[in-house]
Amino acid sequence: MNDLIIIGGGPAGVAAGVYAARKQLKTVLLAEELGGQSTVSEGIENWIGTPRISGSELAQSFKTHLEALKGDMVSVELEDRVTNLKKVTDGFVVTTRKGKEYRAKAILVASGAGRRKLAIPGADTFEHKGVTYCASCDGPLFGGMDVVVVGGGNAGFETAAQLLAYAKSVTLIHRHKEFKADPVTVEKVSAHPNMRVITHAEPTEVLGDQFVTGLTYLDKDTNETKKIDAAGIFVEAGVIPNTDFVGDLLSLDEIKRIKVDPRSQRTSIEGVWAAGDCTDELYHQNNIAAGDGVKALEDIYLWIKTR
Ligand SMILES: Cc1cc2nc3c(=O)[nH]c(=O)nc-3n(C[C@H](O)[C@H](O)[C@H](O)COP(=O)(O)OP(=O)(O)OC[C@H]3O[C@@H](n4cnc5c(N)ncnc54)[C@H](O)[C@@H]3O)c2cc1C
Repeated sequence: MNDLIIIGGGPAGVAAGVYAARKQLKTVLLAEELGGQSTVSEGIENWIGTPRISGSELAQSFKTHLEALKGDMVSVELEDRVTNLKKVTDGFVVTTRKGKEYRAKAILVASGAGRRKLAIPGADTFEHKGVTYCASCDGPLFGGMDVVVVGGGNAGFETAAQLLAYAKSVTLIHRHKEFKADPVTVEKVSAHPNMRVITHAEPTEVLGDQFVTGLTYLDKDTNETKKIDAAGIFVEAGVIPNTDFVGDLLSLDEIKRIKVDPRSQRTSIEGVWAAGDCTDELYHQNNIAAGDGVKALEDIYLWIKTR
């Protein structure tokens, strides 16, 4: 019986793994890979203590840190995927795609999320060439340029607000007539002189040569196809958390993120914690995910030692 199973090898899972090793908890860390979502990024400029690091270097540094500290206490099992999490009398059983089973007293779910992609022609071709899914990562690259935000929820408006600090203009495009974002945010952001909002419009194609040059969309009021010139397209069409394997064991929010107590990262079930982008945490960043993982480990350690 292990003390702990950590599901995920992004910043949340690896931070938790490092703390588990230092706290001498017998732990298995299960993940498809080490590094997480930003591994694909060419330059991360907000990982604290590092002015600039590529996603692959960040992943390598996670691996090096875990290797250096894991000793006999943390076993790292990669290239497998958790498919089921079950409660049993003395703890939990985790099953993987390769058919392996692991048991532990406590579980930390740190399985992250993927961004909902823009599914139109050109979106894949120009990803990282103007089409981006992270404003706080890539926003400053578009200083003085015209950019588009796709999505009319709070995330879309918050992204627009961030971009207005650098961009020449921001056009937010939303498929419905009514916004999902709260009215106060909509009103505040829309009032900015460099902000333009287009509603009831469906993006149809990302245009570009080497980099993005614009976006076409269908104006659903007039049925006309129109064009916006832009150097950057920031997609805020929602996140898809990697939480299928928890089934109905844990309380989830309406988009299937795990509900946690933000003071401790505890979930609705005693013995299960969650950290990072798979939770209903408001903000999604590497430093936040790592901090959540650390917070969870502090609480898990106390829980295990005081049972
Ligand atoms: C393109 C891009 C660039 C970004 N750039 C930045 C940036 O510059 N700065 C910044 O702060 N943030 C950035 N972010 C956001 C940041 O990457 C995330 O907030 C962060 O990675 C979340 O960490 P996490 O550990 O919660 O989950 P993730 O990073 O999503 O990691 C999840 C881990 O869980 C594993 N996993 C998933 N499902 C399973 C399963 N069923 N079984 C086993 N393992 C599983 C995965 O293999 C992975 O190891 C970026 C995001 C993207 C998409």
